[in-house]
Amino acid sequence: MRTEVAIVGGGSTGSSIAYQLAKRGVTDTVLLERGPGIASGQTSRSTALVRTHYSVPIVAKMALLSYRFFKDFEKELPGRTAGYVETGLLVGVDKKSEDALRESVKMFERTGIVSKFISKDEARSLEPLLDTSSFSSVVHEPQMGYAEPTTTAAAFASAAGEMGAKVMTNTGVTRITRVKDGYSLATTNGEISASKVVIATGVWSGPIFQSLGVSVPIKVVRHPVTIYRRPEEFRGVRPCVFDFSQSAYYKPEGVSLLFVGSLEAELDEAGPPVDPDGYNTDVTFDEVERLTTWTAKTYPIMASEGKYERGYGGIYDDTPDQQPVIDELSAYGLPGLYCLVGLSGHGFKLSPEFGRIMASMVTDGRFPDYDVSVFGLKRFESGMLMKSRYNLSTVG
Ligand SMILES: Cc1cc2nc3c(=O)[nH]c(=O)nc-3n(C[C@H](O)[C@H](O)[C@H](O)COP(=O)(O)OP(=O)(O)OC[C@H]3O[C@@H](n4cnc5c(N)ncnc54)[C@H](O)[C@@H]3O)c2cc1C
Repeated sequence: MRTEVAIVGGGSTGSSIAYQLAKRGVTDTVLLERGPGIASGQTSRSTALVRTHYSVPIVAKMALLSYRFFKDFEKELPGRTAGYVETGLLVGVDKKSEDALRESVKMFERTGIVSKFISKDEARSLEPLLDTSSFSSVVHEPQMGYAEPTTTAAAFASAAGEMGAKVMTNTGVTRITRVKDGYSLATTNGEISASKVVIATGVWSGPIFQSLGVSVPIKVVRHPVTIYRRPEEFRGVRPCVFDFSQSAYYKPEGVSLLFVGSLEAELDEAGPPVDPDGYNTDVTFDEVERLTTWTAKTYPIMASEGKYERGYGGIYDDTPDQQPVIDELSAYGLPGLYCLVGLSGHGFKLSPEFGRIMASMVTDGRFPDYDVSVFGLKRFESGMLMKSRYNLSTVG
């Protein structure tokens, strides 16, 4: 089989790229997913928060553009949905993160992101069950919500398929070899020749880059999530909460669930690298205890009336600066080979912009809207890493 563009990995990233290529009329493409369905990887485990709160301006801008895409998803992809629910976000900090938060809010004003400092009373009027006693400041960001990650990726892939792209599931790429007119991909479904290849394999990217002789510094780390049942008084659509003082995030989902996860930088820095095909997908007793203690502190009603439902372990493809690698690898002797990996636990919300950027790079050789060269692989050699104002996981 021969194709113009082979996209390896059918998560939110690869599916969005296939969709944006098809939208530009590039439909001689094949989306290769080794799992039984689209979003067989970490996308399906995502808590899928769609926020704009980042301290790195270019990432905040990408998040804003992606947020707008999620808001208009049904218009952009008629007949399909991302399951987006708008909740708003309350960011509570203690003294040590206050200056950083103030700088972020100034940057948001310049970027067009709506956010403002509010009093604790105002915070409690938005979420009466929130204990604000450990916060010295609170910021409200109405432009925030969550989506349904598997539905989103499937919507991108099926829309791409409808426009002419080929979507092949149960097709793992076992080796990529450079040949005269492009690349040869050995797959579990036969060989595919492609003029161009996009690698979007997330936490599974290591062996592919190794086989190509390129070093992409990705550490796979585990992040636990716990899920609780909210009591009657705490039901319905409620604001999400980022508690920087405890390094925790809270996502009230649907009618009555509450997802809780960690923003602790230590999980990325000190956490041992894990095998993406053999890690603990469950939560440990200690993790349940830690996240439940935070939850009871943040929402005291949960201590007496909340119910622990279940938990799971997800994994992030962390880079040293917790930002993605978006690049074409000509400089490594691999022209026409593109990568969008290393999403570091925050790549779902950015998937609409990832698709736009990569589709433009593949078809025009560049992305004209803003300079994405800062995401290049060379930054890890030159030391020009992107710098977050926070010492937190994923909030770069
Ligand atoms: C617990 C958790 C919570 C998260 N919360 C958020 C959040 O709130 N907001 C947010 O924006 N992000 C969040 N993320 C991060 C986000 O989900 C990921 O960054 C994003 O979904 C990754 O998408 P992807 O397509 O790059 O990777 P994946 O979804 O992992 O897709 C890669 C695909 O490639 C396939 N594949 C791998 N190797 C091969 C091969 N050799 N051949 C063919 N196919 C292959 C895999 O099967 C997989 O389906 C979270 C992640 C986790 C784990």
